[in-house]
Amino acid sequence: MIPFKADLHCHSCYSDGTDTPHALIDLALSQGLSGLSITDHDTIEAYAEAIDYASAKGLRLLKGVEFSAYYLNDPVHVLGYNYDLKNSLISDFCAAHITRRRARNEAILEKLRHLGFEIDYKELSILSKGPTIGRPHIATLLVNKGIVSSVKEAFDRFLGEGKSAFDPGEPVGVEETIAVIQQAGGKAILAHPHLLKKESCISFLLQLPFDGIEAYYASLPHRSQERWLKVAQERHWLISGGSDYHGTVKPQNQLGSSWVDELAFEALLK
Ligand code: AMP
Ligand code: ZN
Ligand code: FE
Ligand code: FE
Repeated sequence: MIPFKADLHCHSCYSDGTDTPHALIDLALSQGLSGLSITDHDTIEAYAEAIDYASAKGLRLLKGVEFSAYYLNDPVHVLGYNYDLKNSLISDFCAAHITRRRARNEAILEKLRHLGFEIDYKELSILSKGPTIGRPHIATLLVNKGIVSSVKEAFDRFLGEGKSAFDPGEPVGVEETIAVIQQAGGKAILAHPHLLKKESCISFLLQLPFDGIEAYYASLPHRSQERWLKVAQERHWLISGGSDYHGTVKPQNQLGSSWVDELAFEALLK
């Protein structure tokens, strides 16, 4: 029997991934996964086409989303699982994020204009298949225009935190994000805590009413996982994990490179 593995963190073309939801489901099965969660940034639109397809193909799908939030000046990602798809709190929150992103993207394009790179918003919209447009799309456009030679270079030179074309946009609080997910019947999980730069930020976040933490992530070293597993054990939090697969835009993260077992999967479904 194939051991149960569920990758609970990946992105489709509805946000900044390059695979369609159907392609993600096919790839998950070909990688030997039994469960999957598509956690697009700030949108749940993938589920309209993913649910029936996954069920027909025999892949267990856990509803997911990854919300962008801020604690002071630090970006914090919050995963939401098993929420009620029909709850308007979730869809309204996603809609507010899309509006916020539009203004933020305009601000980033304005900064790029000042640096001498003219990009029309339409060029960005055409590039994106879904509602969530973000920095990876802008990075791809910079590559397509020959301004940089890779997405990584676009982040390193212009789009990363504190770089010349970076703009944080209107910040959304972590506490509000947790509340929306939980009020929509979902589980709020602190995403990739090892990527948080400041210990003061981590200490603040670990006191919030999260339901769980993402302890397994892409190729996170074993020793680092131990810290988050201990945090979860102390707080009686759920554990999640996944690859953060984005397709060709982030080729180093392969689907199925990180996963949770059946027990953790079922706990998130309760
Ligand atoms: P946004 O949601 O618009 O702030 O963009 C965040 C996305 O950009 C995340 O999915 C990250 O995977 C991606 N990202 C952040 N930093 C980098 C980087 N240095 N290189 C490539 N992708 C990055
Ligand atoms: Zn992303
Ligand atoms: Fe993230
Ligand atoms: Fe992600």
